[in-house]
Amino acid sequence: MENRKRKKSRHTLLWIIFIEILLVLAGLAIVIFFLDEGVETPVDQLIKETMKIDFVEETAQTPGEEEEFYVPKPYIDEQLLTINEWSRPGKKIKSLDYIVIHYLGNPETTAQENHDYFESLKDLKNTSMSANYVIGIDGEIIHCVPDDEVAYASNRANSYSISIENCHEDESGKLTDKTYTSLVDLTAYLSERYGLGRDQIIRHYDVTGKECPKYYVDHPDKWEAFLDDVMLIRNYWKEEAEKEKQEKEAEEAKRRHQEETGIDELTAFLESNAAIPEE
Ligand SMILES: [Zn+2]
Repeated sequence: MENRKRKKSRHTLLWIIFIEILLVLAGLAIVIFFLDEGVETPVDQLIKETMKIDFVEETAQTPGEEEEFYVPKPYIDEQLLTINEWSRPGKKIKSLDYIVIHYLGNPETTAQENHDYFESLKDLKNTSMSANYVIGIDGEIIHCVPDDEVAYASNRANSYSISIENCHEDESGKLTDKTYTSLVDLTAYLSERYGLGRDQIIRHYDVTGKECPKYYVDHPDKWEAFLDDVMLIRNYWKEEAEKEKQEKEAEEAKRRHQEETGIDELTAFLESNAAIPEE
């Protein structure tokens, strides 16, 4: 009687171990499956998601047109101001010839606070001020005035430019790394999208001689480095887009070839292996 009981419990124990091994194997299989699926890098994701979704949504008037734009759109918080004569007059710009870079000159304020200030001018009615975009200390980008509308930022250039205001931490006007990265991404995106060259990205200083953006007026070498970075990013995405296009074309050519010749992948694989001379 005792003996049988012990045997039975050993049986149960074996079953438990067996089931546990099965569970571990199943778990491993799932992990391997997801690791395999996860080889796509964040950059791949960005190319795919941003280029296909944002660009197609906004710019694809005719099929295929979206392919002309290769710089992905950074994440932009759309908070367009209410149309009012003090910050968003609702007037179309005459042409888009420049992107004008600014600094707020008001350390420690957030992008949201500046946006809200622009919005409040419709009630305060004491000054005209705004920008098409404001970039915050954490790199957040707020869209205040549509690209094709006049914003009150760059004096006489308002009617032929897009303005980008930047938040900063101290009086020097130096941007945080996050603000800088967003500024490079946004400028690369806008300049490519509207066909503007390096010499069409300017400082407020270049329009009026105003000390804005202060850090880039004080450090012209840093300004040149910023322009270099914008062009580098544009080139990077262009090359990535071209690579992707070539890969697609190669795949398409391969598919057509297979269709025409009736050779499937297995046959091709066997043939290519047969062609390797044995040692
Ligand atoms: Zn300015």
